[in-house]
Amino acid sequence: MEEEIIRDIDVQSVMTRSSLPVGGYSVNPYVGCPHACKYCYASFMKRFTGHTEPWGTFLDVKHWKPITDPHKYDGQRVVIGSVTDGYNPYEEHFQRTRRLLEQLRGTTAEIMICTKSDLVLRDLDLLREFPRMTVSWSVNTLDETFRADMDCAVSIARRLEAMRQVYEAGIRTVCFVSPIFPGITDAEAIIDRVKDICDLVWLENLNLRGQFKPTIMDYVREKHPELMPLYEAIYKRKDMSYWQALEARIASYAADHGLPYRVNDLPYGRSEKGHPVVVNFFYHEKIRLSNR
Ligand code: SF4
Repeated sequence: MEEEIIRDIDVQSVMTRSSLPVGGYSVNPYVGCPHACKYCYASFMKRFTGHTEPWGTFLDVKHWKPITDPHKYDGQRVVIGSVTDGYNPYEEHFQRTRRLLEQLRGTTAEIMICTKSDLVLRDLDLLREFPRMTVSWSVNTLDETFRADMDCAVSIARRLEAMRQVYEAGIRTVCFVSPIFPGITDAEAIIDRVKDICDLVWLENLNLRGQFKPTIMDYVREKHPELMPLYEAIYKRKDMSYWQALEARIASYAADHGLPYRVNDLPYGRSEKGHPVVVNFFYHEKIRLSNR
């Protein structure tokens, strides 16, 4: 990203009451996200922040009044990175997410960090200080080529290695298999890969709306023309049969492998190693995170 489109902004507070069912507070230390995922729902943010640049090409670095009473958030759920990645590459320099965690030290809030980076490993010692800390990574493919076509974040291999290290450090981890691309995302293969290094696997289908719909359809047309009839059925004719079949497959995969299976739920807690809870969170386009 060009240096000149990074700017500092002052805000009253970084803690925002969330309208998402998953979180009491949404906390975003930055506006914008250099990971520039092609399917990012957070790109709607541009409307509210006056940005006209393409999503992924600007970053506002937030400076807020320090949090003086972390206990104010005790008992709440706090999601860090719902519409940005707090561990985007610029965090290495600006350290706003680290500062946020330092200010929240002492809270018993249930904190969930959403990322596609391994920079979070830098803060491992700090993360360990929180009694209810979760780190989640989005992994919707094991294919690095498809990954690189879709986002500018770190490789899948680096995400999985970070997940392993955080899990082995005794911190709760989550794998967001999101968004699931019909015919491209192999959800069972991903669960198989992560089941020993996470407590929960969250599955969410790709919803195509807004400005990124043509981008994704063009991508599929060019790279996977054989899938076009399927994408047209799902995204033009609203045919749900692919998702229904996938749900049935995942439910039976979970049963066959002894994995607890939930629908539309976000249970908290550690799982027995090798047996993460599998959560089906399909069809919830209105109440999602940014697909991170
Ligand atoms: S999906 Fe997440 S990581 Fe990707 S651009 Fe959006 S906020 Fe950033």
